[in-house]
Amino acid sequence: MTQQIAILGATGSIGTSTLDILNKHKDKFDVYALSGFSRLDRLFELCQQFLPKRVAVAQKDVDAFAKRLQDSGLKTEVVGGQAGLKDIAKDSQVDTVVASIVGSAGLESTLAAVEAGKRVLLANKEALVMAGELMMDLARGSGATILPVDSEHNAIFQSLPQVVQQGIQQDNQSIHKKEHGIRQVWLTASGGPFLHATFEQMQRATVEQAVAHPNWSMGKKISVDSATMMNKGLELIEACYLFNLPEDKINVVIHPQSIIHSLVEYADGSILSQMGSPDMRTPIAHCLAYPQRIESGVKRLDLYKLAQLEFFEPDLQKFGCLRLAREAIKAGNWATISLNASNEVAVEAFLQGKIKLTDIMDINRSVLDEMVKYSNSSNMVLSDLAEIIQINKLARGIAEKVLI
Ligand code: NAD
Ligand code: MG
Repeated sequence: MTQQIAILGATGSIGTSTLDILNKHKDKFDVYALSGFSRLDRLFELCQQFLPKRVAVAQKDVDAFAKRLQDSGLKTEVVGGQAGLKDIAKDSQVDTVVASIVGSAGLESTLAAVEAGKRVLLANKEALVMAGELMMDLARGSGATILPVDSEHNAIFQSLPQVVQQGIQQDNQSIHKKEHGIRQVWLTASGGPFLHATFEQMQRATVEQAVAHPNWSMGKKISVDSATMMNKGLELIEACYLFNLPEDKINVVIHPQSIIHSLVEYADGSILSQMGSPDMRTPIAHCLAYPQRIESGVKRLDLYKLAQLEFFEPDLQKFGCLRLAREAIKAGNWATISLNASNEVAVEAFLQGKIKLTDIMDINRSVLDEMVKYSNSSNMVLSDLAEIIQINKLARGIAEKVLI
């Protein structure tokens, strides 16, 4: 039996890497559905190549895209908007949903896939930052399997005892059991393009410099997040929710070579990690085949040529977004939603040339300060999607005002 795969965000960097692997293993996987948003020419080519049964685009593009497919003899059904994405995520024919839309736009479809009990390959970290508790609760209820695509979380997952791996969704206390002896988790960070730059150099950074990551080739939003290290902040929150760990059990260590993708430290002094070339096809292939292993096409690591692996502490003054993320996860879910919302607005403004790279941190700080009034202490964990969407909207509104 082949696994039926739906890729939400198929035209992006993760989507492209995923399709590259699926193309190598046609005997194991079928591309059942795809989605795209802006690069419709690319989506059209993918439809021609992979012949999916269903495809989702923005609502406004449904008719024109359907006509284009029909004119070229394709029978792919076209659905639109968030409703279309959710419909594909829940489709009874789909076994596995690759959640690779960027930002809060991926929230509802990712939750729909989890609620429908799918195997969910989670790249869309913002969904977890916004709705981590809710997502893990839904997974417990539906029996969904959430597998982390984000390379650090995938490395942590691989470095955990097998019983903990299998229990992540169903028994969220398993990671804390004394017999596992898990002392600390270490998230590695490359430090991005400004690791050795001064704060003044960061202030003058152009968009081109900010998106030029030294080790990874990724979408624009995550590349800017890597330059401010907000990405590591989002990943810290992602790890807390995904593995049910308090933030003080998670350390961040700068590792500029991006060869060790994260580590788990045990009571006996052992530190287990996962290594590999910095290529997202490794974690994606791991998730697609789990618990088996398949070829990913990734260049093998040449251990003879690995001259040096460095590790050092991050500078929290220069990379204030990382500090904000720790504050947010301690403050509660309202704060993680607000930080993510503010950051999305600020990154977009930076990409449009409206603000400096270093303004992102200041905007995020101001929005968190403003949003404190929504920190209803009786409801630190938000369990209602409507409430999460409401806080997201409020925080985006405040960020847009701060921008002016
Ligand atoms: P990308 O910008 O390359 O692709 C984003 C995808 O989302 C595209 O298919 C786009 O069409 C779709 N999209 C964008 N806005 C949309 C909207 N409003 N509605 C519906 N679809 C929309 O991004 P990426 O680098 O592939 O990242 C995707 C996700 O994976 C992000 O959450 C990112 O943090 C995470 N991630 C990426 C990498 C990486 O190496 N690229 C690594 C780890 C995690
Ligand atoms: Mg990552």
